[in-house]
Amino acid sequence: MTGNTMSKKIIQDLTKEELSELIKPSFRAKQIYNWIYHKYADSFEEMKNLPKEMREKLDEAYTLTPLKTVMVQNSKDGSRKYLFELHDKHTVEAVLLLMRDKEYHEDGSVKHQERYTVCISSQVGCKVGCAFCLTAKGGFMRNLTAGEIVEQVRMIKKDNAIDANRRVNIVYMGMGEPLDNLTEVAKSVKIFADPEGMAIATHRQTISTSGLSTKIERLGKMELGVNLAISLHAVDDELRQQLMPINKAYNIESIITALKNFPVNDRKRVMFEYLVIKDVNDDISAAKKLLSLLDGIKAKVNLIYFNPYGGTEFKRPSEKDMKTFQEYLTKRGLHCTIRESKGLDISAACGQLREQELEWEV
Ligand code: SAH
Ligand code: SF4
Repeated sequence: MTGNTMSKKIIQDLTKEELSELIKPSFRAKQIYNWIYHKYADSFEEMKNLPKEMREKLDEAYTLTPLKTVMVQNSKDGSRKYLFELHDKHTVEAVLLLMRDKEYHEDGSVKHQERYTVCISSQVGCKVGCAFCLTAKGGFMRNLTAGEIVEQVRMIKKDNAIDANRRVNIVYMGMGEPLDNLTEVAKSVKIFADPEGMAIATHRQTISTSGLSTKIERLGKMELGVNLAISLHAVDDELRQQLMPINKAYNIESIITALKNFPVNDRKRVMFEYLVIKDVNDDISAAKKLLSLLDGIKAKVNLIYFNPYGGTEFKRPSEKDMKTFQEYLTKRGLHCTIRESKGLDISAACGQLREQELEWEV
């Protein structure tokens, strides 16, 4: 492919319906989707079952390669972190997380299979400004388009030769606040889910938010069927406000109220992420409050070790304190996991991408 990507539209920005409006006859849209998301085509030239004239026209108007890989880091545990450059030179990160998953053959014998989760970014930087977060330090640049979000997964699948039909989970837990870019994020959810595209069911997609209550409500009304993860991190407004200034606009109560109306899949729970910071929020009294706060909500808590990075005053909690915190909750019937540190050895600019493997009951 030639030409300046900046002057061209990103074809991955289009849903299949939009594409079939633009390109007639409409079965062409299916073919193009197949080339992009199944065969991982990087040029229109490759799309040999399209008329030559159509391929040329497409190439004049669209780019298929809106992202450039500028760095890949491999972790000992098999996770891979990608740094992608956008057409305007900004960069975003995405991570491929691998889990060894136990699966069984029909005869009962165990076969092991890798399970893939891709953690993606939704914005360049973030406006929310959490005190512990590296992304926040760089300020906010811009929203990603749906196509730029979708492309992170396509690039990673292609680079790792992950077959188009292999099951992949998506977590919107990279850089940015997804609900601050709701229109493009919702569009990307639909593009991911298209059966003729990547076919990643919406219940395999998880949106993580710092708690923009009004947007949680709006997302709920869209009935997309996505999972929700709330970055709670503190159980009282005073501390939460210090850690997450957004709490001034959307306090804990407003989040809980928004959640009560959120459509949660019968087999699922709302995930509460609780970043544990030594001597800040790791006290057992916090666990106690958390328990009463989540009373009546189909919740699951994910305790995350704070990942220290250069220049932060926050510290990683001890394993003992994490266990005590977890046991307090599980003994009282709350689902609670401690996140193992996937890809911890990957030195990275973005502190938060590393411990985000989720174990959804799917
Ligand atoms: N903006 C959204 C999604 C991206 S952040 C949100 O905040 O939910 C994804 C997760 O990474 C959040 O739970 C965030 O609190 C966590 N995180 C941020 N900095 C971290 C760090 N230094 N160590 C571990 N997790 C971190
Ligand atoms: Fe933004 Fe999430 Fe980082 Fe907070 S933790 S600054 S919401 S990316």
